[in-house]
Amino acid sequence: MSSVSPIQIPSRLPLLLTHEGVLLPGSTIRTSVDTARNLQLVRSRLLKGTSLQSTILGVIPNTPDPASDAQDLPPLHRIGTAALAVQVVGSNWPKPHYTLLITGLCRFQIVQVLKEKPYPVAEVEQLDRLEEFPNTCKTREELGELSEQFYKYAVQILDAVSLEERFKMTIPLLVRQIEGLKLLQKTRKPKQDDDKRVIAIRPIRRLTHIPGTLEDEDEDEDNDDIVMLEKKIRTSSMPEQAHKVCVKEIKRLKKMPQSMPEYALTRNYLELMVELPWNKSTTDRLDIRAARILLDNDHYAMEKLKKRVLEYLAVRQLKNNLKGPILCFVGPPGVGKTSVGRSVAKTLGREFHRIALGGVCDQSDIRGHRRTYVGSMPGRIINGLKTVGVNNPVFLLDEVDKLGKSLQGDPAAALLEVLDPEQNHNFTDHYLNVAFDLSQVLFIATANTTATIPPALLDRMEIIQVPGYTQEEKIEIAHRHLIPKQLEQHGLTPQQIQIPQVTTLAIITRYTREAGVRSLDRKFGAICRAVAVKVAEGQHKEAKLDRSDITEGEGCREHILEDTKPESISDTTDLALPPEMPILIDFHALKDILGPPMYEMEVSERLNQPGVAIGLAWTPLGGKIMFVEASRMDGEGQLTLTGQLGDVMKESAHLAISWLRSNAKKYHLTNAFGSFDLLDNTDIHLHFPAGAVTKDGPSAGVTIVTCLASLFSGRLVRSDVAMTGEITLRGLVLPVGGIKDKVLAAHRAGLKQIIIPQRNEKDLEEIPSNVRQDLSFVTASCLDEVLNAAFDGGFTVKTRPGLVNSKL
Ligand code: ADP
Repeated sequence: MSSVSPIQIPSRLPLLLTHEGVLLPGSTIRTSVDTARNLQLVRSRLLKGTSLQSTILGVIPNTPDPASDAQDLPPLHRIGTAALAVQVVGSNWPKPHYTLLITGLCRFQIVQVLKEKPYPVAEVEQLDRLEEFPNTCKTREELGELSEQFYKYAVQILDAVSLEERFKMTIPLLVRQIEGLKLLQKTRKPKQDDDKRVIAIRPIRRLTHIPGTLEDEDEDEDNDDIVMLEKKIRTSSMPEQAHKVCVKEIKRLKKMPQSMPEYALTRNYLELMVELPWNKSTTDRLDIRAARILLDNDHYAMEKLKKRVLEYLAVRQLKNNLKGPILCFVGPPGVGKTSVGRSVAKTLGREFHRIALGGVCDQSDIRGHRRTYVGSMPGRIINGLKTVGVNNPVFLLDEVDKLGKSLQGDPAAALLEVLDPEQNHNFTDHYLNVAFDLSQVLFIATANTTATIPPALLDRMEIIQVPGYTQEEKIEIAHRHLIPKQLEQHGLTPQQIQIPQVTTLAIITRYTREAGVRSLDRKFGAICRAVAVKVAEGQHKEAKLDRSDITEGEGCREHILEDTKPESISDTTDLALPPEMPILIDFHALKDILGPPMYEMEVSERLNQPGVAIGLAWTPLGGKIMFVEASRMDGEGQLTLTGQLGDVMKESAHLAISWLRSNAKKYHLTNAFGSFDLLDNTDIHLHFPAGAVTKDGPSAGVTIVTCLASLFSGRLVRSDVAMTGEITLRGLVLPVGGIKDKVLAAHRAGLKQIIIPQRNEKDLEEIPSNVRQDLSFVTASCLDEVLNAAFDGGFTVKTRPGLVNSKL
């Protein structure tokens, strides 16, 4: 290395701002690139560039400031390190990012920033010669490791251009680190002579403190605890291997001074070991008939899920073992996945424990930290077992689709080991460091979507889809389950509060927009709290004395809620009523408690100008209606797309524009200057609210075409129509997924007509008949048909035959 010839770095360098430590010359780090600025740099410099020069970057340490605007360039550290990008690895999961392997070459100083966007480029001055490095390479490597913890020092070292200054700074740091490591080593592996020293210290400590003080009492108590602990270890039914480890550890503990940090660590460890349910289990009681009744009692509808769960339990009863696929319930939030899991535990008479996996990206969350770490803990599996106190609980692995991945290992791999019946009788948590038998645990998983479940995990699981509910199902669930539960939780009785079905329907349609019933449940919670206050104050007032105009049950959709009498529980008229009169929650009471309705008029209000259409999207949280907005302005034929779109959706937008341009004459579409070339001197902006939610997929194609056709024709799209379908350049409409969820969403939003691809007609069978009755469907095989259905009176100049307009 000492023969390296001097290299001159380019005088203009693109700047990579990194907050993952400080890169020093001669060291190599991996850094992840995920800010817009850095992503741009990687794309244009490293992925497109071919020369060696283009792979040299200026790396500037940067502490991210959450308060500053991500758009603006932060104040730059003056000195940085020119680096060679050795490797670029890209990934799209969980979000687009690259990982760069970069090697520091030499320091440089920023002379001036030449441009800021899309990534900063600066004129730089090289500060050190490259041959200097071999002499100090080892020290720098050590420093590199240190730099994470000593960010501040590392930056100062980076700034120390003169070699002498640099040594002065680093040597004390290195000495301190080495001393620290030595100390740590000593405390972890007490050798025989160390033990002697510990014993020798003890009498001295005893001599130096005054008897009868607090410390003395503490110590006696501790000694009692140790005796207890030892007894527990002796009587515990843990396996032999675990027992041996405990005996060894308690021997060590007895010899340790209590002031030593490891004393507490070891004691915690032993306490966990004696607490774990090595051999403790509940006895299964399984009666399929009783299980069926219990599942039916606890859950309305969800027949498919209940049937599959019963089959699973029946097979277990016959085979009497747990080997087989893990059940995984997949569906939007609030559709009862967790709740069914809990019922399974109840039918089996087992303990239930939920393990939330959302956002877990470190395998030690599952498998624990090794005890050598300060603050190390067992993983969630062992923790769960400690909590339930038996070795055969039902563990609900919640949100397996939201597992992350990081440098700290892949939690999915750890989870695979937990779920594998061939391996899990020998599961070793890093903290415990002895095997625990998980084979008696019944695992059930839940997810919102299968798309992001790691494939190896998916392979182990049997997926049961749990779709969203219709309005009618929600009303039943509310009155059979949610309301009674909420009343009980708030200490209210039906004699104190009454919620008629019309009110429930109003909450469903005007205050929530969800596939499941979670927000609905919360709204009932809010109502109960408000009523509880009134009841407790003893000043509840009837909203209505005559309730005869409210009929429950069938036909409740048609009720006009505003017609009810405008008195409500928040009225201040001091109308003293007999205490036995229940508080009736009518629409006025609802408004008082929950505020004005959140979803009303929205659809028609937004469609009162040309250039807006409603599409249907599928999301892991269920179906959703999605607006597409377009506007045009003078320009140079540019298309702007906003609303966080994925590549496929962007392509749909381009396809839509190309198709409309090529068909402009046919439909008499012109731009503001009367030209059939729609982009002539014209820019188009397409926006997909809500702007913060990422959207992708081909199914918005027909909606974009309709929205643009409306913009250029100046005609309004029908406000009760929603649509979905992929398009081709030739104007054909191709089938898409998620029809059932999409149709339910359109129904929830009160839309009346739905345009779907012809080849999706078969999917309509899955839709409950009461929803179908409210809607009319148009099945389209080409864009002509879509446009004809989307505009009142059709869109084509001559209406074509072949449009299927079926009222199902
Ligand atoms: P998920 O796990 O799917 O997100 P939860 O199981 O937490 O949903 O359900 C939310 C709430 O809704 C719970 O109180 C649950 O009991 C209730 N719930 C959902 N579906 C039903 C149903 N079909 N019958 C009765 N209650 C239900």
